[in-house]
Amino acid sequence: MTDKQPTANIHSFESLATLDGKGIRYGIFFVGCPFRCVYCHNPDTWSGEGKRYTVDELVKKIVRYKPYFGKDGGVTLSGGEVLVQSAFAAKLEKKLAKEGIGVALDTSGGVPLTDDVKDALSHAEMVILDLKFWDDEHYVRYCNGSISTVLDTLEFCEQKNVPVWIRTVMVPGINDKKECIDKYAETVRGYKCVKRYQLLAFHTMGFSKYEKLGIKNPLEGTPALDRKRLDELQAYLDAKEITNE
Ligand code: SF4
Repeated sequence: MTDKQPTANIHSFESLATLDGKGIRYGIFFVGCPFRCVYCHNPDTWSGEGKRYTVDELVKKIVRYKPYFGKDGGVTLSGGEVLVQSAFAAKLEKKLAKEGIGVALDTSGGVPLTDDVKDALSHAEMVILDLKFWDDEHYVRYCNGSISTVLDTLEFCEQKNVPVWIRTVMVPGINDKKECIDKYAETVRGYKCVKRYQLLAFHTMGFSKYEKLGIKNPLEGTPALDRKRLDELQAYLDAKEITNE
């Protein structure tokens, strides 16, 4: 009999990572993304066929790392945009929960709140939500998308008490100014679910992928954001005390 279990289209894995969530993480990067951010450093995850896995196959891979997760660690589902494959993500979260393994969902918030998306969000231990910009005008110009689904995602997490870490990439010449930080802060102020807000520095390590894929790099020539400027902007944001950890 053929195996009828649904499969997910997976781009890659990262074992024993520490960046996306608490503690030691096992990262799974899903293929597909509704946005086209000009500063994306993973254009190779936007579309195409990666490798197909069933939930059981992934759980088998992940449980081998369970001894390393400790109290805080677990799995981070990322991409691309994991919620493009939300039904699969929800199934995986539920199966991992039975193994005592928590899941962080790293999302751009670019997918409308279908029942499957809500299911995946509500079964996450926490959500890492990228806030690219503060209004539709900038989302349209720089991400080919809209802020509305992002705000809907944040609102849903608020209602369901899912802890959220917000992240924003600071890009030189686009959003690396204090006036921009003021707008980001006002966008998330008042949400009790927001536990952290971390700014990330734009870097140029993804540039070679554009060349390899033959895609025009919209930010060619843009320098990486330097660490000192990032620290200044983070301190400016932190002083606004908008998080609730
Ligand atoms: S949401 Fe993430 S993966 Fe998608 S285009 Fe933007 S930066 Fe790239």
